[in-house]
Amino acid sequence: MITAHTKLAGLIGNPVGHSLSPAMHNAGFEHLGIDCRYMAFPVAPDLLGDAIRSIRALHFLGANITIPYKEKAIQFLDDIHEEAKFIGAVNTIVNDNGRLVGHNTDGRGFMRSMEEAGVTLTGKRVFMAGAGGAARAITYYIAKEAAQLRIFDVDAVKLAALVDDLKKVSPDVYAESSTNAITAADILINATPIGLHYGDPLPVDKTLLREHHIVCDVIYKDTPLLVEAKSLGCLTVNGLGMLFWQGVLAFELWTNTTAPVDVMRNALMDGYNRL
Ligand code: NDP
Repeated sequence: MITAHTKLAGLIGNPVGHSLSPAMHNAGFEHLGIDCRYMAFPVAPDLLGDAIRSIRALHFLGANITIPYKEKAIQFLDDIHEEAKFIGAVNTIVNDNGRLVGHNTDGRGFMRSMEEAGVTLTGKRVFMAGAGGAARAITYYIAKEAAQLRIFDVDAVKLAALVDDLKKVSPDVYAESSTNAITAADILINATPIGLHYGDPLPVDKTLLREHHIVCDVIYKDTPLLVEAKSLGCLTVNGLGMLFWQGVLAFELWTNTTAPVDVMRNALMDGYNRL
């Protein structure tokens, strides 16, 4: 029941109509008896500041930020957590008694999904396509654990900036897309949007895929890359787990509780299966 005490949380982005976050978070709130509702808010670019300030004014628990505002949201916040600073983007805002603090749970979400799939990064050679927002979020953690990291992006400026930043975290990080960097890797990761749309090419030449590769995609479905890798017998991990765990981590930041992961996962999968 919605009462005069019911709190709000929500998603700020544009578009947001496809989002599975309301289903997942509302299931979590309901299960724990937390008097809060999560709504999706499509926000026009010129009203982003107003929307974020309303988190404070309307006493929201917090919010998620999604495309295209993950970077632009930062200017409206009071403080930014260390990992979000490195990434240069926030996906979660916590309202700490009127102080809006930006976090980024995408990278830790990815690491949790890998853990869940039984994949450890420690000592592994990783090749990643993409140097955008998702890539920044996950490499912040991968660089600390992997033995080596090779990255490729069609945007040479973005790629050089990410590699420079990651060298402060780990020395064995280079921009490289040679055949050897791909075939010798233990783990291949697609952190580009290639594979999102029907008819997209593969972000990695399919003749370079090998059975020993663990192949991951941040896109939350089995992309052509993952389908091809599976047909060769590779272990594959899609981005659904990352999406789930980044949400769980946001929920825990807002509520200071342990999230009911089974309930939230069922709600997410329910929505996902109806997409
Ligand atoms: P960005 O646009 O910030 O970054 C993508 C980067 O990939 C760009 O630099 C782009 O270059 C580059 N790129 C495009 N094509 C290629 C290619 N063939 N080879 C190498 N690099 C290429 O996007 P995001 O990082 O925000 O998002 C990437 C994907 O991650 C999206 O599909 C998104 O849905 C997914 N995602 C999933 C999440 C989850 O929870 N599972 C969370 C966040 C994102 P250019 O700009 O020049 O095209």
